Amino acid sequence: MKSSEIKDLNIAIVGGGYGGASAAKALQSIGAENVHVYEQASALAQVGAGIGLRPPSVELFRAWGMFDAIAAVSSPSDHLEIFSGDGKQMFASEEWPFLHAYKQVNHNRIIHRGDFIEALLGALPDGMVHIGHKLSTITDNGDHSTLVFENGETVTADLVIGADGIRSTVRNQLFSDKPPVFSGEHAYRTIISIEDAFGLVTDDNPRFYMGQNGTIAYNLPLRHRGQLSFDITAQSDDDSWAPEITTDYLLSILDGFDERIVDVARTLDISAMTSRSVFDIDAVDTWHSDSVALLGDAAHAMLHHQGQGANSAILDAGGFADALLQGDSVTDSLAIYQATRKPVTDELQRISRLGWNAQTVDSAFPAKA
Ligand SMILES: Cc1cc2nc3c(=O)[nH]c(=O)nc-3n(C[C@H](O)[C@H](O)[C@H](O)COP(=O)(O)OP(=O)(O)OC[C@H]3O[C@@H](n4cnc5c(N)ncnc54)[C@H](O)[C@@H]3O)c2cc1C
Repeated sequence: MKSSEIKDLNIAIVGGGYGGASAAKALQSIGAENVHVYEQASALAQVGAGIGLRPPSVELFRAWGMFDAIAAVSSPSDHLEIFSGDGKQMFASEEWPFLHAYKQVNHNRIIHRGDFIEALLGALPDGMVHIGHKLSTITDNGDHSTLVFENGETVTADLVIGADGIRSTVRNQLFSDKPPVFSGEHAYRTIISIEDAFGLVTDDNPRFYMGQNGTIAYNLPLRHRGQLSFDITAQSDDDSWAPEITTDYLLSILDGFDERIVDVARTLDISAMTSRSVFDIDAVDTWHSDSVALLGDAAHAMLHHQGQGANSAILDAGGFADALLQGDSVTDSLAIYQATRKPVTDELQRISRLGWNAQTVDSAFPAKA
């Protein structure tokens, strides 16, 4: 599309998480001036945990002029290591894919989730993000849509991006009403001081410890904060939103693990640990109509085993902006966006569902992405 057409497009993004905020930044970077992000929450917050931003995501931050803002609040990792639960056997030690694929070396940036959303939102102009806007209905009228929010406001937009997460209202009302799928797993996450990490942190690289009983303990060092993100994934049949956990239970699922991990579990503040059941969605057949598209978890929520959900949302945002530049019209651009991104995320959804199996790990990065 011509830059004058992109400049004037009236674009509504539903959801101000990593996907929605990245999409807003990507659209701004190609000259879109009429972009509004509608977020249901009254304040944007994230779970207290770390997350890894992969080299291709980092390359986009450079293109969007926000690399320094990300680098200031993250630590650079060059590889990932995977061990047996007891830490005695190393299954894999691999450099992050695409670390050296760009003009500058792009390390994987390990960042606190809260710092990441703050950096993204801080890169957007004042007035672009509208909090307290929970979408209740979307009507797709072909070349424009009508959005009605719970607060009573109604908005009309030429182009709508549904970046409203795994339980997306946009997806549910326009593309697929299939509910999320429970993985049979829980994710327990907390942030501790490096001083309380019993020597687990020796550099900036994440380490995964894979137990025999399906439990995985993984450490994401946040050395710039003097902290460690201490994360556990465990099997469970309980699909409640925030399952209760106790120290005794944590120690029982970590029986036989590296003693430093057991020591951390024994001494951490269990009341500060976030506990969540983990879900993904089945691949959605179609992500777009003539003027509405899905992005991020709304389009392709995947299990966290490859650490690719947020990274995919960021790459969707870059792909979306590229598609607008390539297409002859909004509709044409949305088809290009889906054709470019969906095969990649379909595969990541599939691989992520395979989970980790200590017997068959031959690469830390089966998707090589
Ligand atoms: C345990 C765990 C570990 C993970 N680790 C990693 C990792 O290391 N690396 C990685 O890349 N990914 C990881 N992920 C995945 C990652 O967190 C998600 O893929 C990512 O948050 C998706 O971003 P999103 O913006 O698409 O969706 P979300 O983060 O869910 O954001 C959606 C936003 O939309 C808003 N919203 C929802 N409904 C409405 C509505 N009706 N109206 C208005 N606003 C609405 C929500 O409030 C929210 O702010 C992990 C996930 C889990 C569960």
